[in-house]
Amino acid sequence: MAPGEVVSRTGTRFPSVVAADASAIRREVLKRNPDAVAIEEAQFFGADLPGIIEELVAGPRTVIVSGLDQDFAGRPFATIPELLARADEVTKLTAICVSCGAEATRTQRMRNGKPASVSDELIVIGGMGGDDTYEARCRACHVVLP
Ligand SMILES: [Zn+2]
Repeated sequence: MAPGEVVSRTGTRFPSVVAADASAIRREVLKRNPDAVAIEEAQFFGADLPGIIEELVAGPRTVIVSGLDQDFAGRPFATIPELLARADEVTKLTAICVSCGAEATRTQRMRNGKPASVSDELIVIGGMGGDDTYEARCRACHVVLP
């Protein structure tokens, strides 16, 4: 992989850009005018993302969005619920629970080796919140301290 591109497992290469916010996505798409746009980590963009995606889809073009639907406490994450409601098609992927091997639908935040508290900040950038790690967990194994 080189800067400015993403590469599929089959070796297909696509141009990519890092977007600081949703308006940067709009700006890049309008400049390049692609037939399709893929947006990763959508949960980290602001409340303007759904409206901007509606503009981009009207292009017309295909917009594929991926993101976490729940935060570490199991709460709906940012604008993902709205994006799910507006989407023409939804695919919900799961992982394998690291504790029991069941289907994992949740993200477990561990802080210094213990489950995080529901009162912890939502987004931790660059480890500023301590020694945080994230694990895939099923509903039964997902723990959030009060
Ligand atoms: Zn489990």
